[in-house]
Amino acid sequence: MKRRVLGGQPVAEKKKKQQQEEKKEEEKMLLKTPQKLLKTGHYIELGSYQHWPVLIPQRIRLYTYEQIPLFLKENPFITGGYRAHLPSKLCLRSIFMLTNETVNIWSHLLGFLLFFSLGVNDVSSVLPASGANREDYVIYVIGLFCFQVCMLCSVGYHLFSCHRSETTCRRWLSLDYAGISVGILGCYVPGIFYAFYCNAFWRQVYLLTVLSLILAVFCTQVHPHYLSNEWRGIRTTIFCCVAGISVIPACHWVWLNGGLATDVVQLFLPRVLVMYLIAGAAFLFYVTKVPERYFPGQLNYLGASHQVWHILVVVMFYWWHQTAVHIMHFRHSRSCPSSSS
Ligand SMILES: [Zn+2]
Repeated sequence: MKRRVLGGQPVAEKKKKQQQEEKKEEEKMLLKTPQKLLKTGHYIELGSYQHWPVLIPQRIRLYTYEQIPLFLKENPFITGGYRAHLPSKLCLRSIFMLTNETVNIWSHLLGFLLFFSLGVNDVSSVLPASGANREDYVIYVIGLFCFQVCMLCSVGYHLFSCHRSETTCRRWLSLDYAGISVGILGCYVPGIFYAFYCNAFWRQVYLLTVLSLILAVFCTQVHPHYLSNEWRGIRTTIFCCVAGISVIPACHWVWLNGGLATDVVQLFLPRVLVMYLIAGAAFLFYVTKVPERYFPGQLNYLGASHQVWHILVVVMFYWWHQTAVHIMHFRHSRSCPSSSS
């Protein structure tokens, strides 16, 4: 009996010691692990007290529409695939992941590469081959530079819209809007320059008007309410006005050239109309949120209206650039009439 009691005490003590050591180790692990993870960015703060394990670079957590912060809620028909609460580094890394922004990012990143290579091609071969002068070079460089800026601003917004700071997201959003204005300017500059190639007065009037309009839009964007949801309608109206006002120089160009029956109008009016058609279609997709409106949750990753809008914007810019090449060849092939053209 004595032996058992004496022999049993050390065993019990050993067990207690082991349990205490295990507890201590567990506590140490609990204390160390979150800090380590916090440092490596595997945990983030949501609100004032919660820590969510979301930021494993290769497997960034995706959220549903209900889970994302209010300022990211724009399209309820896209029900999932959202990135959110990310620091800049992981926003950048998410470029190689499949999320509901992947097509938006890559469509304009490839668009940027397209317009960059078009610029290189124009300056190195197209313009020298067509006997371009200094003005042609300036106009082409401005046009393509504007398209590239528009593409990059859009890429930046869609890449960093998941940033954990609302202020950063808002800044990128205003940059995206500024990019659209620059893109519109890139359409106007070559359009007006070649349409009024032989009429320096109207060319200057329209170029100055467009520049003032774009400047006015930039000034409006500084307004604190500009990015608010209440101003969404006003934002759309401003862009519609800036783009739609192009009807005035277009009609004026037809009238100055002697009406619809003349050669130059017959040659280029269909191209202008196709441009309006693409722009109109792009705008309709953008505003109506079709087709995801009819298939909520099914087009989260592919086929959503914003993706169609992005692709149509690239098509529209490319179409306008090719039109500028055609009209430049036309202008160089014949001299201006003595009065006007
Ligand atoms: Zn976009």
